[in-house]
Amino acid sequence: MNAPDSSFAAPTEPHVMQTYGRLPIALSHGEGAWVWDTAGRRYLDGLGGIAVNTLGHNHPKLVAALRDQVGKLIHTSNYYHVPLQEQLAAKLCALSGLTNVFFCNSGLEANEAALKIARKYGHDRGNANPEVIVFEKAFHGRSIATLSATGNPKVQAGFGPLVPGFVRVPLNDIEALRQALAAHPDVTAIFLETIQGEGGINPARIDFLKDLRKLCDEHDLLLMLDEVQCGIGRTGKWFAHQWAGIVPDVMPLAKGLGSGVPIGAVVCGDKAAKVFGPGNHGTTFGGNPLAMRAGVETLAVMETDGLLANAATVGAELKAAIEHGLAGLPGVVEVRGQGLMLGIELDRPCGVLLTQAMEAGLLLSVTADKVIRLVPPLILTSAEAAEIAARLVPLVKAFLAAPASAP
Ligand SMILES: *Cc1c(COP(=O)(O)O)cnc(C)c1O
Repeated sequence: MNAPDSSFAAPTEPHVMQTYGRLPIALSHGEGAWVWDTAGRRYLDGLGGIAVNTLGHNHPKLVAALRDQVGKLIHTSNYYHVPLQEQLAAKLCALSGLTNVFFCNSGLEANEAALKIARKYGHDRGNANPEVIVFEKAFHGRSIATLSATGNPKVQAGFGPLVPGFVRVPLNDIEALRQALAAHPDVTAIFLETIQGEGGINPARIDFLKDLRKLCDEHDLLLMLDEVQCGIGRTGKWFAHQWAGIVPDVMPLAKGLGSGVPIGAVVCGDKAAKVFGPGNHGTTFGGNPLAMRAGVETLAVMETDGLLANAATVGAELKAAIEHGLAGLPGVVEVRGQGLMLGIELDRPCGVLLTQAMEAGLLLSVTADKVIRLVPPLILTSAEAAEIAARLVPLVKAFLAAPASAP
């Protein structure tokens, strides 16, 4: 496992802009759910590049497909037809029950497109000031519009004035939502993560999602579900809202769709699919052949290798192992989430666990200050899930037993 004699020393990077609080390692290569750092230490990847590396690292089929594609075309521009776009779009529509896809390059871009659709949907109906309902603790990205839609004041601090046109309500509170709708007749869309990721793994309840679908139908609003993090098989269904048996009008996707190759997509149903016409939206890189091939191959491998079922089963095992390991421990507020999107909420900020886990050969994240987040590759095995729990549980126990450190 980890070489005992090598100490962790941060590589210096005086020319990279200092926007991230980084751990003092650099990774050099990976295999499945394992990665190695430049000093040769091995880590079990409970983070999956933040819910991105669906197929893990160095997946033989993905690597072969990408090698093949790089030797043909990487990029052509959208001046021309890109047949792989139709191939991936058709697949996403078949899996979601929606009808049309716009491709971009990241999560915030997918959300920007969704917000533009929400506004134009209003304008097309004679509403010159369309508003969008968003939620407390939401995260939708870090562009000016998407950070305005985000519910975390830390993400917004220093970047005002915020984009107007957002009405914020608490999650899972249908009464508050009804009141907001009554007070804001210009609302054209309801925009939420089916399971909040950065906000601390907070699921929208099934009954709440069903109520939202009903309200959107009654009021002619767009239901826009940000599945950038929780979509693409992570919860054990292709899309997290499918657990509620509903279909959204607009669904931004990104993270897991390309298994690590940057990609974003907005998948739309009938109500939203024709809102954009020629000239309304575009991107230079979006839908390039390399990213499309990554998406096509990721979905194909997920199907042939049964990764939805794997995410459900191994995720349930991982959750059970953590619940069992932490049972009755004061300081553990809740273990929640679905499939391989799990959060362990503690009663105190626990960012220090990032470094401790790394030292124990485990990669994970801490979000919303107090929530340990596990979003590993969907190829995770039962044995690897057991190993994540075996490495994590003692760390949490020791952390909670230690006297609280000064903030
Ligand atoms: C990560 C994330 C985004 C932003 O995606 P980027 O690719 O970082 O721009 C948006 N929404 C959700 C739910 C996310 O988890």
